[in-house]
Amino acid sequence: MRNLDPRDGASATSPARHAVATPAQVTLMGAGPGDPELLTIKALRALEAAELLLYDHLVSEAILALAPASAERRYVGKEASRHTLPQDEIGKLMIQLAREGRRVLRIKGGDGYIFGRGGEEAQALAEAGVPFIVIPGITAAQGAAATAGIPLTHRDHSRALVLATGHLQDNRVVDLDWEMLARPNQTVVIYMGLGTLPIICEQLIAHGLPASTPAALIERATQPGQRCVAGTLADLPALAQSSGIKPPTLIMIGNVVSLHGQLNPAICGVQD
Ligand code: SAH
Repeated sequence: MRNLDPRDGASATSPARHAVATPAQVTLMGAGPGDPELLTIKALRALEAAELLLYDHLVSEAILALAPASAERRYVGKEASRHTLPQDEIGKLMIQLAREGRRVLRIKGGDGYIFGRGGEEAQALAEAGVPFIVIPGITAAQGAAATAGIPLTHRDHSRALVLATGHLQDNRVVDLDWEMLARPNQTVVIYMGLGTLPIICEQLIAHGLPASTPAALIERATQPGQRCVAGTLADLPALAQSSGIKPPTLIMIGNVVSLHGQLNPAICGVQD
């Protein structure tokens, strides 16, 4: 059996083995939710040494500015309605660049393995035999939790955390496990759900969550101009309309949201 524990054996004395076994041709890097100070040290070092950046639309200018001015920057991002490069084309491009001997820094918002399609890109690289490493990033839910004053778990309120996507499937339906999402004593964070917010709230109520369950929208978490709109499952769709909340926005649902009123006023820094 392969030894997967980094603390065991020879690995304990050879950190290089864990950093990069073979020189990585491609680095899949999570850039966090926007605030450059939320990059990992590993991500910052990768940016500072970058030669060629392939980045998505959620990667902020402030983060791109940390790469050398000489580094080539290519936008390959996608938004719900505007696909710049289809996903398999991004995989092919990375493979082609790697085969030409280029070192590629692929940057995604948040964490690449959380609704970032990083898994698909890693699979494409693995299938093509291109050596790569993955640098995790702080996911939007964690950034929003910290800056909006909404702990993701709390012993009095929530014993589980579910991250889900509200994105419409190809058949134009929100295909979620509503019974699982409507369980009590958990926190549900929905990515890409602003467009389907009314369906989400309606379905959660229909599947048993009280209409009075606290729920919030956090727009541009950790970035200048962050906004948080807090309400309940019953009134959140109307609040979204009246406040003109726009993507990127997360939906947070559960009793932990009620702590926003207590914690948010005490938080220093980015606030709504
Ligand atoms: N890989 C990313 C998620 C990409 S999916 C991550 O780990 O965070 C894109 C969705 O993420 C957006 O539609 C929005 O719901 C959410 N999102 C990303 N950055 C955000 C931010 N700064 N504030 C609020 N929501 C954000």
